[in-house]
Amino acid sequence: MPQNIFILTGAGISAESGLGTFRDKRGEGIWARFDPMKLATPEAFARDPEAVLAFYDLRRRNLRDAKPNAAHFALARLEHALARRGETLTLVTQNIDDLHERTGSASVIHMHGELLKARCERCEALRPWLDDLTISDVCPDCGRAGTMRPHVVWFGEMPLGMDLIDRALREADLFVAIGASGAVYPAAGFVAEARAYGLRTCEINLEAADNADLFDEQRLGSASGTVPAWVEELVGP
Ligand SMILES: [Zn+2]
Repeated sequence: MPQNIFILTGAGISAESGLGTFRDKRGEGIWARFDPMKLATPEAFARDPEAVLAFYDLRRRNLRDAKPNAAHFALARLEHALARRGETLTLVTQNIDDLHERTGSASVIHMHGELLKARCERCEALRPWLDDLTISDVCPDCGRAGTMRPHVVWFGEMPLGMDLIDRALREADLFVAIGASGAVYPAAGFVAEARAYGLRTCEINLEAADNADLFDEQRLGSASGTVPAWVEELVGP
């Protein structure tokens, strides 16, 4: 029977690529060292845009040095193998990095935005942005200065692609969360929605998520080990 798989990835899939997670149980995540209310809200950007931009500049530079790991490669392979069988993969990520794209995943839904894009607050122009972002940068569309911001979803803002995500969940047979903390809504609520729609649910994680009891199946271990093994079970070597 053909199957449609819905995968949600979180920071845990990129941790082995050198990108820090936001929250972890040891209290070593990015938000243990930086105050999200001072760096990742629209109010913070209005109050101190230079501090907010500097934080994302640093993260953009880190991303340039990061390399996708075996888990990213395995998910790209899964997408193409399913397509050959007439099956589909919906890949939704909470990550703002581009590591899925770099390994060939074709249509990633970035529900929390993308670090390598900038958006104009005035005219909504959206552009690839690989360099530092400053308050004197000028919008390429409307020509105003100081209006370009990272294309990332801040606390208090609506995640992106929620209609698409809900439709894909309804049409899927299997829901898999990979490296997601289970602590950040609305993504942490997807597993409950998936269960309500009758999907089987599986968690692949380094350590059990906050919502681990909602999953039918659990595979614990490093993403670079567990994800390729799971993909091989599904579509062969
Ligand atoms: Zn503009």
